[in-house]
Amino acid sequence: MQLNDLSLFRQQAYIEGEWRDAHGGETITVTNPANDQPLGSVPKMGAEETRAAIEGANRALPAWRALTAKERATLLRRWFDLMMTHQDDLARLMTLEQGKPLAEAKGEIAYAASFIEWFAEEGKRIYGDTIPGHQADKRLLVIKQPIGVTAAITPWNFPSAMITRKAGPALAAGCTMVLKPASQTPFSALALAELASRAGIPAGVFNVVTGSAAAVGNELTSNPLVRKLSFTGSTDVGRQLMAQCAKDIKKVSLELGGNAPFIVFDDADLDKAVEGALASKFRNAGQTCVCANRLYVQEGVYASFAEKLQLAVEKLQLGDGLTPGVTTGPLIDSKAVAKVQEHIADAVEKGARIITGGNTHALGGNFFQPTILVDVPACAKVAKEETFGPLAPLFRFKDEADVIAMANDTEFGLAAYFYARDMSRVFRVGEALEYGIVGINTGIISNEVAPFGGVKASGLGREGSKYGIEDYLEIKYMCIGL
Ligand code: ADP
Repeated sequence: MQLNDLSLFRQQAYIEGEWRDAHGGETITVTNPANDQPLGSVPKMGAEETRAAIEGANRALPAWRALTAKERATLLRRWFDLMMTHQDDLARLMTLEQGKPLAEAKGEIAYAASFIEWFAEEGKRIYGDTIPGHQADKRLLVIKQPIGVTAAITPWNFPSAMITRKAGPALAAGCTMVLKPASQTPFSALALAELASRAGIPAGVFNVVTGSAAAVGNELTSNPLVRKLSFTGSTDVGRQLMAQCAKDIKKVSLELGGNAPFIVFDDADLDKAVEGALASKFRNAGQTCVCANRLYVQEGVYASFAEKLQLAVEKLQLGDGLTPGVTTGPLIDSKAVAKVQEHIADAVEKGARIITGGNTHALGGNFFQPTILVDVPACAKVAKEETFGPLAPLFRFKDEADVIAMANDTEFGLAAYFYARDMSRVFRVGEALEYGIVGINTGIISNEVAPFGGVKASGLGREGSKYGIEDYLEIKYMCIGL
């Protein structure tokens, strides 16, 4: 591992301020998706170690909660500063375990750090209310308090940002946290724990348990000390975790799957739409939950949009994320490759045509060519299911009402995008799309100051922004008699 600061590469879990191995010494090997070579290993922990972490988080809670928001913010700010100081190393570690190009990984570290900075500040603004009394001798006061010990389970596609988006608001609000990162990308999480420790965040406030998803997840959702779970991942797993949390009525926040429509109307600025489609569809090799999944293009501009998109896509450089100039890395594993192949085969069988890509790449392994399909029929699988890969299927549509109906015809409701210049249409379509996030004339919508989250089967709660901290707070109403 070539890092400037080798101690950021941790191969143990972080529980109550200590680096620990699994009880029985079992480990999970982590590989580089660009070449399937092993990078190192992390402990394969289960229920017992998770319980220890939860108990540690519970012991740390009273003192952490008792600090002022400013005192917590000072420590969080230090954590943010350390992330930015070590941005290059953190990005390299991420590219090695996740595959995304180094420039994208550096961008993610800055994005991840921004949640710590934002929420450190936001923690100071957890205001309550005084409510005019309903009786002359009553005074009504509303305060907001940290919910307590929280748990987070995060995915591999954003190994750093999905953690800080949860840990930032949790810690700023005065909660403590036990995190289970994805087993494909645990080193980014452990490096964050190392920096939290250097920042002076007290033992037990932020814990990272690596290991068996089912065993760790089961303890996190069934232990009564945990008062809240925040999960980012697939809808199926989210549904299962929510059911597990039902027993103790734990609060849940869920960021689940999407099936983002990307609509190009006749009056769109086509060059901007191509730029947006490229960013939204092909960033992280198509492996983000807000990636455009279905591109609907109005018939008047269909041919020219397809042509322009093809030119842009053919400029993408596939390769190992550490190689300079590479814009598109490998997919996370062979299962991900199989899913893209399945969606292409299904669409082609139903009448679609491949205009670029369509195959695994000469680089082999998990590399897949950025692909565009045209004339995709509405009955294709890709209209209903999330591909999570570098596949842009182009559907044709006639009028606004039709495309809105098609865009909303899904169980998901995370992000939607459209390009149009007519002001009335912008409002009409923006309001009609049943999604938590709508990108209008832009393909990039994520940042720390805006509320990110979905409706329908895409989840519950919002992350980032002033709303993001609410998920980690309980409201208490005090009725005071005079
Ligand atoms: P993805 O398709 O993004 O890998 P998953 O939902 O499978 O999404 O995984 C997201 C996170 O959920 C990972 O950290 C994974 O280890 C964890 N996970 C998967 N299955 C379970 C489960 N049954 N219980 C708890 N966590 C799980």
